[in-house]
Amino acid sequence: MTELLLQLAYLVAAVLFIFGLKFMTHPKTAVRGNLFGAGGMLLATLLALVGLVPGSLPLIAVGLVVGSAVGAVLAVKIQMTAMPQLVALFNGSGGAASVLVAGAALMYAGKQPPHSILATAATGIIGAVTFWGSLVAYAKLQELKAFRKPFSVTGQQAINAALAAGVVVLGGLMLLGEAWSWAYLPLVVLASLLGLMLVLPIGGADMPVVIALLNSYSGLAAAATGFVVNNNVLIISGSLVGASGIILTQLMCKAMNRSLTHVLFGVMEAGSVSDAKEVYANVRSTSPDDVAMILDSAQRVVFVPGYGMAVAQAQHAVRNLGKLLEERGCQVEYAIHPVAGRMPGHMNVLLAEADVPYEQLKEMNEINPTLETVDVAIVIGANDVVNPVARTDPKSPIAGMPIIDVDKARTVIVVKRSLSPGFAGIPNPLFAADNTLMLFADGQKAVLDIVAALKET
Ligand code: NDP
Repeated sequence: MTELLLQLAYLVAAVLFIFGLKFMTHPKTAVRGNLFGAGGMLLATLLALVGLVPGSLPLIAVGLVVGSAVGAVLAVKIQMTAMPQLVALFNGSGGAASVLVAGAALMYAGKQPPHSILATAATGIIGAVTFWGSLVAYAKLQELKAFRKPFSVTGQQAINAALAAGVVVLGGLMLLGEAWSWAYLPLVVLASLLGLMLVLPIGGADMPVVIALLNSYSGLAAAATGFVVNNNVLIISGSLVGASGIILTQLMCKAMNRSLTHVLFGVMEAGSVSDAKEVYANVRSTSPDDVAMILDSAQRVVFVPGYGMAVAQAQHAVRNLGKLLEERGCQVEYAIHPVAGRMPGHMNVLLAEADVPYEQLKEMNEINPTLETVDVAIVIGANDVVNPVARTDPKSPIAGMPIIDVDKARTVIVVKRSLSPGFAGIPNPLFAADNTLMLFADGQKAVLDIVAALKET
């Protein structure tokens, strides 16, 4: 009876996760979705305590207190711009936890049936790839110097194939019986190397795909662990994360016009990166007063936000400028590139926080065909997602990636602090185009100055 109640309660937790995901599909219900997800997790954690081995409670309590304290401090202190790195660490922690739990079950749970051993091997492989891959993703997102350039070794694909074959063989050995349990350790070591080798060469602008994929892997590792420890809610929640991560990966691949195999196994070519001095020979800069004068007569204005808007926390100022323009009879829209910023949906979150009406957010495919009729496109802290070399240079690291075609607008105002490159590390000829004016300043300050100047015109 107790077992039945326990399983029913687990089912309630799983249903909360599913509704949480459902609510998170729309900005208006996203907060509710988060609360449902957190509620499901709290319930699942409490239920897991019910089935504890007697005597283990003090140790678990220490873990819960330490984990909750770290989580609470991070949640309060983390900057919005550092969220992607935090998510990478969360994914990695999930992978590491799965490897440890499956390893502990192998050591202490006595003889296990073949399906459990298979799940243990799968956990070891996916969990270790996730952990090390996520650490590299963290280092790349943090833009640590040593990780800025994609790293590649000769024969990379052959090495990866050998590592993949190695983990499969070791997993097969584990199935031979208890005497072969030792194979779990070398399996984890080889899978760790595989995780490093898979993510280190990925650079340019392909990281969004990898992050979504690692997120999915962390879920799959958790689901496999669920089979090891016979925990239904872990299987369900892990599968939900795994499946939603795969859907996100597909969306990201589509947004980048990449195939998953290209990102994961494509050999990184040096790529052609033009000389910045040459590209920027004819850059023209402007001032907030001049921008206000241009906006004064504009009928249609499109804002194109990017990572720099998040750094500058300029979303509220941008919203105020948008409102001011609307009050003057101008049509205002916000063009959202699917990989703008550093995490999926980054710009949507920021603009929702600033109460930008959802109907004014236009996806790339929707806005691009109309950009020729836009009077002024204001690019605020975006760079790679508006870089026309994606269209024109087949050897560029971002070649083929669809961009927001702001260069087709009548006038383009680019707000950023300098001519330094974006995440992909390449110069952007948009900044020197005939119809572009550069407003060199911090995003928030620049927009506040434009608002002040516009109020005076
Ligand atoms: P970019 O990283 O290409 O460019 C951001 C620009 O913002 C920089 O050129 C920088 O220029 C400017 N900037 C920084 N701080 C400020 C500030 N305070 N005020 C004004 N401008 C500022 O951003 P995009 O959004 O265009 O492109 C995103 C990139 O990140 C893509 O390459 C994408 O693939 C990658 N990526 C995206 C992920 C996702 O899921 N969305 C995940 C991982 C990577 P300056 O220093 O001169 O001011």
